[in-house]
Amino acid sequence: MGETVIPLADLRHAAAVPRIPEHPEPPTGLVADRLGRPLRDLRISVTDRCNFRCTYCMPKEVFDRDHRFLPHASLLSFEEITRTARLFVAHGVRKLRLTGGEPLLRKDIESLVAQLAALRTAEGAALDITLTTNGSLLERKAGALRAAGLGRVTVSIDALDDTIFRRMNDVDFPVAEVLRGVDAALAAGLAPLKLNMVVKRGTNDGQIVPLARHVRERYGTRAVLRFIEYMDVGTSNGWRMDEVLPSDEVRARLAAAFALEPLAPTSAGETAERWRYADGGGEVGFISSVTKAFCRDCNRARLSTEGKLFLCLFGTQGHDLRALLRGGASDLQIAAAIGLVWSERTDRYSELRGAAPTGGSSPKVEMHYIGG
Ligand code: SAM
Ligand code: SF4
Ligand code: SF4
Repeated sequence: MGETVIPLADLRHAAAVPRIPEHPEPPTGLVADRLGRPLRDLRISVTDRCNFRCTYCMPKEVFDRDHRFLPHASLLSFEEITRTARLFVAHGVRKLRLTGGEPLLRKDIESLVAQLAALRTAEGAALDITLTTNGSLLERKAGALRAAGLGRVTVSIDALDDTIFRRMNDVDFPVAEVLRGVDAALAAGLAPLKLNMVVKRGTNDGQIVPLARHVRERYGTRAVLRFIEYMDVGTSNGWRMDEVLPSDEVRARLAAAFALEPLAPTSAGETAERWRYADGGGEVGFISSVTKAFCRDCNRARLSTEGKLFLCLFGTQGHDLRALLRGGASDLQIAAAIGLVWSERTDRYSELRGAAPTGGSSPKVEMHYIGG
């Protein structure tokens, strides 16, 4: 069965204003959804714009010159993002990830990082503040981001070979600049860092071993390369199951070149299966959201660029927090509305897709809008 394609503008605006309970209670830090999953991780999309056109995320044919990105006034301001993040922290969130679109395109992003880094849990602990980037502006920005309080960074890199890398980003961007960004991040103290490679069978799967070898030799334990299964996120990338290279196959190809040993997970809700090189040369991860769903422990919420809360990467409907933020609701009211939305959550898209792997029939929101 094919996907129902709904125009992007319509999809972006599919959101209901969340209900404020009649007698709002302050958050306890322990909200659980209907499947007993706590709220621990908030991903914040700070822009829907990007300077790349990765074929699996923002294909050029769809995101062309005529595509209308969100106007600035509809984006959450840094103050609105920080206020919202503070309310999520009161519900138990411990990790904030800035993403997009390309987050480093948002002007003065380091000042948002500084505001978020000043937040504390009820026990007075600092948060884990991270950012996912395509690395194109990282060489310039790494020092300022670190100084503002960024804890960690994840850099997407889909190939070591320049021709294949340029084909994946589809704007002819050279891989050497991204690698200089990685070096700058490490030099600024953003270590260890994560590198994400989305593997598309027939496009960049020949890069698995060369990229792993480069990362091992150049960075050792200072970088963890993670292989991500190409996902059926959004409706515009023309996803096909036969272009997914299952993680087990990726690992088999790596294991043919290097001896690997499994590692125990470090925390509940971890998306990557961790392995290490037997010779101590570092660590790799496998994110298998297509072939091995990990919804059972999913503790992640997503805040879109214009303030809509999504409970799943494959969400079809957001909850319009901006309407509450700009409509005069109090912190207590907004926090109670967030708690209610989370407590009613039942999302487990990947598990359900696993049961019917040809894809669902619901229209889904785009990755660059909701944040990866
Ligand atoms: N622009 C930044 C970047 O590329 O790192 C941040 C946003 S991007 C949407 C976040 C992550 O999602 C990236 O690592 C990207 O490779 C991944 N991603 C995007 N579309 C994907 C897809 N269809 N399947 C798997 N991963 C995808
Ligand atoms: Fe841009 Fe990141 Fe999407 Fe690539 S994956 S198009 S860099 S948002
Ligand atoms: Fe979480 Fe949705 Fe992904 Fe499952 S499919 S792990 S619920 S984001």
